[in-house]
Amino acid sequence: MNRKTRPYLFYDTTQSVCTTCLHPCEAKILIKDERVYMDKWCPAHGTERVLVSDDADYYRLCREVYVKPPEMPQRFATPMTYGCPYDCGLCPDHMQHSCLSIVEISDHCNLRCPTCYAASGPERLSHRSLEEVVAMLDAIVASEGEADVVQISGGEPTLHPEFFAILDAARARPIKHLMVNTNGLRIAQDAAFAERLASYAPGLEVYLQFDSLKREALMDLRGADLRGPHEAALARLDALGLSTTLVMTVKRGVNDDEIGDVIRHGQRYSCVRGVTLQPIQNAGRVEAYDPAKHRLTVSELRRRIAEQSGVFTPADVLPVPCNPDTLAMAYALRNPGGPEGLVPLTRYLDAATLLAGERSTIVFEGDPALKAQVFKLFSTNHSPESQSSCLSELLCCLPRIEAPRLSYRDVFRVLIVQFMDAQSLDIRALKKSCIHIARPDGRLIPFEAYNLFHRDERALQLGRIQRGLDQARRRREIPIASAAPAR
Ligand code: SF4
Ligand code: SF4
Repeated sequence: MNRKTRPYLFYDTTQSVCTTCLHPCEAKILIKDERVYMDKWCPAHGTERVLVSDDADYYRLCREVYVKPPEMPQRFATPMTYGCPYDCGLCPDHMQHSCLSIVEISDHCNLRCPTCYAASGPERLSHRSLEEVVAMLDAIVASEGEADVVQISGGEPTLHPEFFAILDAARARPIKHLMVNTNGLRIAQDAAFAERLASYAPGLEVYLQFDSLKREALMDLRGADLRGPHEAALARLDALGLSTTLVMTVKRGVNDDEIGDVIRHGQRYSCVRGVTLQPIQNAGRVEAYDPAKHRLTVSELRRRIAEQSGVFTPADVLPVPCNPDTLAMAYALRNPGGPEGLVPLTRYLDAATLLAGERSTIVFEGDPALKAQVFKLFSTNHSPESQSSCLSELLCCLPRIEAPRLSYRDVFRVLIVQFMDAQSLDIRALKKSCIHIARPDGRLIPFEAYNLFHRDERALQLGRIQRGLDQARRRREIPIASAAPAR
């Protein structure tokens, strides 16, 4: 008798939430025609198939090779009561500390973008008080000891009336690197503001919204033609020498053909340290969004970087070991012989280098291939920078680079940061999330879980789900387990 076989490889099981009701649901990971899918099943709303990756080899590389022991926070702030993702956080079952902690200081904004995970806008007038912000900063320090990167965000944080008092409060705490997540309008329009902001450098970076060089794409994503303000902001940041990362929200069919152009544009400004690509997610306000048309996976973005940049190959874009499902990176050295040249670096790194040690560290001097590349590029006349702006201060979840002869400004970084939404949520990957939003009550909540269950009125739905889970537990007469010890 010939037995039938299923037309796919059954790779794994995981858990997700139902896209419709956000209740827990089972999920299978399947590989078919070199593509990876998550098949979800909700008893109330049926089945759903979600494309997770269009490159099975890269997916397996992330799952099977780029795995390292999770780094723990200093403390957990919530017990395990309902199960993940309803216990944030961080609860004792979370598997990564906060590489990047976000402090949202305002709901207000001078734009009303059609795509905004925070659903901010001019009509929302509430700012967090300085006391609340300080409580959030203290929550981060309590969880991290010394925090690697804290991002001041919003809404548009530069509109907060006590913005600089907030930066002072952050500076007064053990935080290595500060970022300001901004649309750049205030920097473009207010020279005195930008100069004062630059006085917080080194150790401060601008995370600049920069989706496109084209009017149509900017109108789609931002509802405004921001080409002029973008250039004014970049010129000012360059003149001030303030480290800047360009941040593209990438929407298929809208700006996914501009990745190479934005990378090349960033290279022209010496203040730009790299480009971060965030595939669009279904969170907050997402007008004119159709997941079937507009979603992009990490593997697709990785390929677009290779196709469009003219610099990187797919092998240069590596999984970031903290959370390889959702983070990928490529480093290049800026060529001192020409302002626009980049020499890819990540191709010289192997997985063992990135996974070694408590925190991955690239040691140029210890790797002959890397050393040859670096010395070829920087053989003479390179003056060392102060420790505070050196390469070893790069984002925690990216590899540290020990290279006394190089500074942060000699490196250009392209990073993919995918935030999962209800459709794509894989609880296994969520537990590894290292990007967390601080709350004044002391909690740190993984970014995706925050957008799904905690932002604005979504907390009401979380309460309903928790009550339902509680009733189900009572029916089984299971007592509430106390918080499990750290494992
Ligand atoms: S996402 Fe992390 S903190 Fe939140 S419930 Fe799951 S394990 Fe706990
Ligand atoms: S995406 Fe940023 S700039 Fe746009 S409305 Fe939201 S907070 Fe404002």
